[in-house]
Amino acid sequence: MAVKLVDTHAHLDFPELAQDLPSVLERASRAGVYRIVTIGIDLESSRKAVELAEAHEHIHATVGIHPHGARRLDEGTLDSMRRLAACQKVVALGEIGLDYYRDRQPRPAQRECFQQQVELACELGLTAVFHVRDAHEDFLRMIAPHAGNLRRGVLHCFSGDWAVAEVALGLGFYLSIPGTVTYPKAEAQQEVARRCPMDRLLVETDAPFLAPVPFRGKDNEPAHVLYTAQKIAQLRRCSLDEVARHTTRNALDAFGISDTIP
Ligand SMILES: [Zn+2]
Ligand SMILES: [Zn+2]
Repeated sequence: MAVKLVDTHAHLDFPELAQDLPSVLERASRAGVYRIVTIGIDLESSRKAVELAEAHEHIHATVGIHPHGARRLDEGTLDSMRRLAACQKVVALGEIGLDYYRDRQPRPAQRECFQQQVELACELGLTAVFHVRDAHEDFLRMIAPHAGNLRRGVLHCFSGDWAVAEVALGLGFYLSIPGTVTYPKAEAQQEVARRCPMDRLLVETDAPFLAPVPFRGKDNEPAHVLYTAQKIAQLRRCSLDEVARHTTRNALDAFGISDTIP
């Protein structure tokens, strides 16, 4: 039987993918990617994500303000987010978090924007999708008091080492592995992919970014999540089928998606 995979993190509204979406979706479905979570990074892309999800049964959306656009969110913005999040196809708040690697916004603004959205996710009973780069210490300190109030938490493109992974797993979060795990120098990420309990592992593309080998340097797309799953199977010395079965079940659970379409 063909594998069934979920790409838990893609940006289908970005021009690289949006300009020829029917082909992108067709290739994904041929690769066994039978559901895609498309991720909002600001109000506009969150709106587009919701539109895409409403137009395609197998696409689900998230709504959120990325740390690159972090600012204090006024009541109007929070209300727009609440309205979007009420749509039936919205499965999480995200991507939200802290990015001290790019530091596109001042760190205090990033922390405030993150805090506001964590509180919103708790208020709405939603799963949260976290983007964290070079900021795991602050992230874990800020999220710990709220972890029990979130429906679920997903660390997308997990880039911490195993010590950070253990703390995040202890808080009940899922770790999502992107295509970079196929890069020869990704030793820390490979260790996480090998040691993470099977029931907490997710796969994603972050398309159009981070294409796995053998597409490194090109635009990424949901179909390529298969290469990530294959690499994880190789690292864990198990079958692709086993990785697919577990990560797909985890994705449905993490995002509260009922498995009604084949
Ligand atoms: Zn991200
Ligand atoms: Zn992303």
